[in-house]
Order: sequence, then C-alpha cells, then structure tokens
Amino acid sequence: MAERIPEEKIDQIRNSVDIVDVIGDYVNLTKQGRNYFGLCPFHGENTPSFSVSPDKQIYHCFGCHAGGNAFSFLMDLEGFSFQEAVVNLAEKTNIPLDIDVSSHDKNVKQSPELQQMYDAHELLCKFYHHLLVNTKDGQEALEYLLKRGFTMESIEKYKIGYSLNSWDFVCKFLQKRKFPLDLMERAGLLIKRERDGNFFDRFRHRIMFPIHNEKGNIIAFSGRSLGEEDPKYLNSPETAIFNKSKTVFNFNRAKKHIKKEQRAVLFEGFADVIAADAAGVINGIATMGTSLTDEHVQLIRKSTDHVTICYDGDTAGIQAANRALDMLQSVGCNVRIAWLPEELDPDDYIKEYGAEKFKNEVIEASLTYMSFKMRYLRLGKRLNDEGERLRYIEEVLTEISRLTKAVERDHYLRQIASEFSLSLDALQQQQKQKFYSMQKNTKNQPQSLPQEPFLLQQKSNNVLRPAFQNAERMLLAHMMNNHDITLKVQEMLSGNEFNVDEHQAIYTYLLAYYESGYVPDTSNFMQFIKDKELRHIVADIVMMPVNEDFTEKELSDYIKHVLNHQKMIKIKEKIHDEKEAERQKDYAKAALIAMEILQLRKSLEK
Ligand SMILES: [Zn+2]
Repeated sequence: MAERIPEEKIDQIRNSVDIVDVIGDYVNLTKQGRNYFGLCPFHGENTPSFSVSPDKQIYHCFGCHAGGNAFSFLMDLEGFSFQEAVVNLAEKTNIPLDIDVSSHDKNVKQSPELQQMYDAHELLCKFYHHLLVNTKDGQEALEYLLKRGFTMESIEKYKIGYSLNSWDFVCKFLQKRKFPLDLMERAGLLIKRERDGNFFDRFRHRIMFPIHNEKGNIIAFSGRSLGEEDPKYLNSPETAIFNKSKTVFNFNRAKKHIKKEQRAVLFEGFADVIAADAAGVINGIATMGTSLTDEHVQLIRKSTDHVTICYDGDTAGIQAANRALDMLQSVGCNVRIAWLPEELDPDDYIKEYGAEKFKNEVIEASLTYMSFKMRYLRLGKRLNDEGERLRYIEEVLTEISRLTKAVERDHYLRQIASEFSLSLDALQQQQKQKFYSMQKNTKNQPQSLPQEPFLLQQKSNNVLRPAFQNAERMLLAHMMNNHDITLKVQEMLSGNEFNVDEHQAIYTYLLAYYESGYVPDTSNFMQFIKDKELRHIVADIVMMPVNEDFTEKELSDYIKHVLNHQKMIKIKEKIHDEKEAERQKDYAKAALIAMEILQLRKSLEK
C-alpha cells in the first residue's frame, strides 16, 4: 500500500511548482496579457481555447471546460492518482518526499494485464539489447548495423537489440518469469499455432527496435531482417497498448527538443529518425509504417506549429509529403519541406554526403509551402508542351490564391511571369478571378485557418446567463478571493441556498475550506474539491474578469438577484395554483392564494 504523503509536503510542493512549467511540458503555451494560451490537450482543436493563469496557478479550457490546478492537470491528462501526481511534481521541484515511492510507479493505475504487457516489453528490450551488444549470438547483427552506418551511441540511445534465431526462446523466457502466454500473444510478442495451440516467438533472427508511447513505455517492436528476407521490417501487430495510427516514433524523447527548437522534423520511417539523430537533428519523429493520420497530426500540433517534412526523395515520398503538408497546414501548422535530391532517403543521403550537409543543405534549406508546390506540380509535366504548361500555370495560380499575404502572392506571380515570359497584369487578373471563384465555392465551408482565436474564445466564457446565475458566479468568484466576503454572504443569505445546484455545492465546499483554517488560494481550493465537474466550474468562474474593489452595493445587488429568483419561482407556482383553484371554482382558495402572491411580490427586493 502507498504511504500517505504529509499535508505540509503537499503544500510545499504546490507552492514551489509553477503550473506554467508543468503544463508547458505538454502544451505549447504563448503569453497573452496576464495569462498563457495554447491548444487544449483534453479535446481536439485547432485554435487555442486553453488558458493557464500563473497568478492563480490554475488552468481552464473555454472549449471543453476542463480546469484545475497542477495536480489535477497530471491526474486528468496522465491518468495519475493524486499521490502519483504529487510524487511526479516532487521530483520536478526536487523536494524529497522521504517516503517509499516504489509503489508510486507511473503505471500503477493500469490494469494488471496492461501492466504485464508493458513489463514484458521492457524486460525483452533489455534482453534483446544485451544479446546484441554483449554476446556472440548478436555479433553478426551488430556488425551488420555498424556496417550500415549505425553508431554505438545510437544503438545505446535507442536500445536497439537482437532476437535469437529460435522458435521458442522468448516463449520460454517469458514463461519462466510467470507471464501468461496467452496474454503475451495478445501483446504481440508470441504467435499461437492454430494446429496444436502451441505458442512460438514472433520475432526471430531480427534486429529489434523498441517503440515507445508518449509517456516512454515500450509498447511494440519493429524487427528488421538481416539479409534480404521479407518482410524487411516486421512490426508488432495492433494490440491493447499499440495503436499505429496514434503512435509517433521518438515522440517521448524528441518532445522537449521540439518545444525548445519550436519545430518538429517529420520523417517517413524510424530508421531515418535514428540516422538524423546521429547527424545532430534531435527533434525528429516518424509514423510507424502508416501514412500520417489525423491523430498523429493532433499529437504533433499540440507540441509545435512548425513542422519540417523530410520524406524520401522518390515519387512516392514526394506524394506522401504533399499529402502530409496539406494535413498539417489545415490545422494551422507552418510547414516546410526538405526535398532530398536523386531520389535518396534521409539515411542514404547522410551516408553519401555527411551530417553537416544534411543539416545545412536539406533541413535548414527546406522549401516553403509555395516553392514546394511549384516543384511538386511540375513533376511529370513536359513544360515545353503548351497544353501542359498552361495546366501547370493554372494549378500554380490556384495555390497562389490560397496564400494569405499579398506580398507573397505578388512575389510568386512575378516569378511565374518572368519564367514563362507572361504579362504580369494578365496573371494578376487571372489570379484574382481564381480567388473569387474559390471564395464562392468555399463560402459554406468552415475556414481552415481561423485567426485571432483568443479574444473570440474569451467571449464564449461570458455567454449570456440569467441574472441570478451570473450573480451567483460573481459572488463565488469574490468569495474565493476573500474570506470576509464569504462571511458576509453567508449572513445575507441567512440560510437560503444558491439556485444552481453546482453553485450551492461549491459554496458548501468553500465554507468547509475556510472552516478548516485555509486562506484564499484558488489552486489549493481546487485540491479541496474532490469532484472533477465541480473543479471545472470553479476554473470557469475563477477565469471571469472581476473588479478588485467590491462595493457593498454590488454585493447586495447580487444577493438580491439570488433571493429574488427563489421568490419568482414561488410566485410562478402560486399563480399556477391560483388558476387551478379558479378552474375548480374554489374562489375562496383562489383569493387566498392571490393574497400570498401579493405578499411575495411586495417582498421582492428592489
Ligand atoms: Zn478543452
């Protein structure tokens, strides 16, 4: 069982950690005024509606209403328990916990089956690596790798290994360590023979590349054949822990470099990532034998909005790059394309021309959107044929019409005019026509690149609410900032409740919070609230702009709205009763109710 972490330690950690740093590890944040904004990690979006307040040490999403403090961020995003979140932040702030944290393993919350799958991968990864670098069995594979240009450094860093040329070595290895074989089959490590139901090893006599998830757990392997036998790469199948369309190779290692350099380099295969890393490109990632999916794009977009695509230089690679470019561009990424010459792949290029040239003449000299499109559209066209040439110009004009900056449009129009000796005026005319017809066609479609998101999103927080709801939220906002105001509100409500159940619940929590001797501190209060939905509402309320000097007049106005609403509901009920009495011709009763209504109306505070 996990040892309890003392309150004081938790307070100490909460006070020394900065929520901007914690969230900054996951979300690319930009400062706007007092707060930071970024793409919400809890729901897919292309324009930032996620905000972090360094003053209040909380976060809030105007889109999906997620909200909380640094601890709840890790709990909601990583699936950590409260204790795990505390342990994680203790490490980050270098505050020693002086308790046994071994039971606070990252995956402690996982189901035991998933945990066993991770454990088996971890164990096998170490074993395969040992076989490759330390044993005679792995010598052939090691020599093969070194001959192919892999360095010992890369082999260490990427924990590359070797699987023995045996049908049942891994099978026995796992069995001896009490891993259930049918579970290991579902983890993709073993294969079950239909004929007799026996298990055998999936990977035999292959160079083994471990694949990690975002958190750094090993979830799969890719096994490369040593010779020419097919397939060249054998990947783990899709399992409960491995989903190809969501997995980005090296993301766990590269994400901090991506944040720092404000750019990701996207490769076609993981071998390219490893080769590029050895050449000094450390922010490289790749998909796992599939083309780019929307899920990959969302994952990348959350960490940066600048991507360089570096796919193979052959036709298939260029076509895939064009598709990836459109996908990344559509979620608001600024994309460049590194175009490799002579149909080379990145790995071959580095071997041929060296690391320096790869960095300077391929990655650094990558093409802008428009330069790439102009080269791409040219492929396979014979431009000395008039028909093909006109088609090319037409296609380029379409791309130019997509550019948002007038200077850029002008630049490329001039380039086309001079290359094909055309009149610039005529080109400009044609481009404008194209632009208008495109506008017409896309009128009913949502804009792919909406700008100025922040103010727009901010407004959605102030949706028109009935006066009493707004009053309750304003009262709560001030009460969270000030214990005295809370006492005053308590007195003025004199036993009456808030009309909105959630507001009443937050109010009750707040009274208990102050009674426990705590001082106003939103982040701490968040922790006090055990209900996630309520926490989200608190975050929503806290992010409302409120004026610091709160007058008695405002206070009593808000209270009036709250109390009047309750009376208004009662009056409505009474009117209904009165009508009902009239319908039943019980005029005495109706008259009595009418009196009560009058009384209630009088008591409404003006
Ligand atoms: Zn959200």
